[in-house]
Amino acid sequence: MKKIRTRFAPSPTGRMHVGNLRTALYAYLIAKHEGGDFILRVEDTDQERFVEGALDIIYRTMEKTGLIHDEGPDKDKGYGPYVQSERNAQGLYLKYAKQLVEQGDAYYCFCDKERLNSLRTSVSEDGTDIVVYDKHCLGLSKEEVEANLAAGKPWVIRLNIPREGTTTFHDEIYGDITVPNNELDDMILIKSDGFPTYNFANVIDDHLMEITHVVRGNEYLASAPKYNRLYEAFGWEIPVYVHCPLITDENHKKLSKRCGHASYEDLIEQGFVSEAVVNYVALLGWCPTDNREIFSLEELVEAFDYTHMSKSPAVFDTVKLKWMNGEYLKAMDFDRFYEMARPYIEEVVTRDCDTKKIAALVKTRIEILPDIREQIDFFEAVPEYDVAMYTHKKMKTDPQKALEVLKELLPILENQGNFSNDALFETLKAFAGEKGYKIGYVMWPIRTAVSGKQNTPGGATEIMEVLGKEESLKRIRAGVEKLSEQA
Ligand code: GLU
Repeated sequence: MKKIRTRFAPSPTGRMHVGNLRTALYAYLIAKHEGGDFILRVEDTDQERFVEGALDIIYRTMEKTGLIHDEGPDKDKGYGPYVQSERNAQGLYLKYAKQLVEQGDAYYCFCDKERLNSLRTSVSEDGTDIVVYDKHCLGLSKEEVEANLAAGKPWVIRLNIPREGTTTFHDEIYGDITVPNNELDDMILIKSDGFPTYNFANVIDDHLMEITHVVRGNEYLASAPKYNRLYEAFGWEIPVYVHCPLITDENHKKLSKRCGHASYEDLIEQGFVSEAVVNYVALLGWCPTDNREIFSLEELVEAFDYTHMSKSPAVFDTVKLKWMNGEYLKAMDFDRFYEMARPYIEEVVTRDCDTKKIAALVKTRIEILPDIREQIDFFEAVPEYDVAMYTHKKMKTDPQKALEVLKELLPILENQGNFSNDALFETLKAFAGEKGYKIGYVMWPIRTAVSGKQNTPGGATEIMEVLGKEESLKRIRAGVEKLSEQA
C-alpha cells in the first residue's frame, strides 16, 4: 500500500480559525494513524489576503498543539518549495496551465470586467444563482490569441469544461456527488496578476507532493468536481477526499470571528489549555465508537478513524469545552498548573501569601484559568458581606451562635503556634469535641469571618493557613465586631 501523505494548507491570513485547526488535526491524525507523513504547505497566492506575521502564527500554533509536520517550508524533503508564491516564482503553475492550453483543456481569456459583469446569471436546480463564463474567448483563433498577448492585453487562463454531461466525484464523508457540467464555471487557473488561483494550485501541488488524502473544510466541496476535471485532463490519479463538516456557533450560524472564540489564540487568551482545545476540536465532527471524550493527542492518533466522521454540522459548545478544560486542569501536573495560574493569582492577591497554596486550593475547582480571579478575591480583602451569611440550617448555626463560637475561639487561636492546616484542624476538632459541638458548627463561622464568602476554595483551616496567623485573627476579630454590632 502507498504511504499515506496528507497536507495542511493554510493561507497566511491571521489567527488560526478553529475550523482550520480541526482540518490540520484531522489531516495529522489520518496520516499518523497509518504511520504516514503530514505536510505543511503555505498557500499565499491570494496576495490581497496576506497578513504580515500570519506565517509565524501558523508555525506557533502547530508547535503548541503538537501537530508537528514532517515536511514543510522549514523541512524540505525533496517536494519543495512548500510555499506557493515560491513555486509560482519558478513558473511551475504557468507551465502546467500552458500544457492544458496545448491540449485544448484550457484557454486564454481576455474578457474585461464589464463584459464579465454583463454575463447572464442562470439559476440552478436548487434555486441558487450561478454565473458561468460563456466561453467567448474559446472561439479565438491561435493567431488572435498570439496577437492579444503580443499587444499586452490582460489575460487569464480558464479551464475548458464541456457543457454537456455530468461530473461525479466521491468524498469519503459525503459520498458520491454528481453535478451537471453546465453548472460548472470555466474557472480561472492563472489570474491576471500571474498567480494561480487556489483552485488550480491545490491540484498541481497535491499531485506533485504526492498527497494521498485531501482533508479540508466543506466549503470546498462544491468545487471538487472542477478539481476532478483537472486531474482527468492531466491524467493524474484523484486523491481521497475527506471534506469536514461545517462548524457552527450555538445559534447554528457558521462559527465566525464575531463570536469571539473562533480562533485557537482567542481560546488560549481566554484561559483554555492547548491540550483541551485540541481534544475538543477533535470531537467537532468525529465521534469514537465508544463515546469516550477525553483523549490526548497520542490517543487520538490511535483511535481516529475518518470513516466515523459525520457530515452534519458540528456545534461549537463552549459549555462543553469549559467542562473539558476543567478536567485537563484537574489532571494536570501541579508545577505546570502553578506556572499558568500564578499570573492570575498575583493579579488579584498582592498581599504576601503563599501563592502555591492558593493554586493548590483552586486547581480542582475551576474550569478555565480566569475563574481563579473570583475564587480568590477574598484572600486580598474580605468583601462586604451580610451577617445573615452566618446562618446555616444544616450546621444549625446563626449570627448569635456564631458570635459565641468566635469569641470562645479567639483566645485559643491566639495561643496557637502552628498555623498549618493540619494543626489548626486538630485544634478546632478538639475544641468542638470538648464543647460537644459538631465540627461544621465551628467551621462555618470561622470560614465566614475569614473569607466573607459563602463559597470558597478550601475550608476554614486551609484558608487560615494561607492567610497566616496575624491576618486570620484580624479577620476573626472583625467578624466578632460585626456580629456584636448587629446583635
Ligand atoms: N488555503 C486553503 C485555506 O486556507 C486550504 C484549503 C485546502 O486545504 O485545500 O482555506
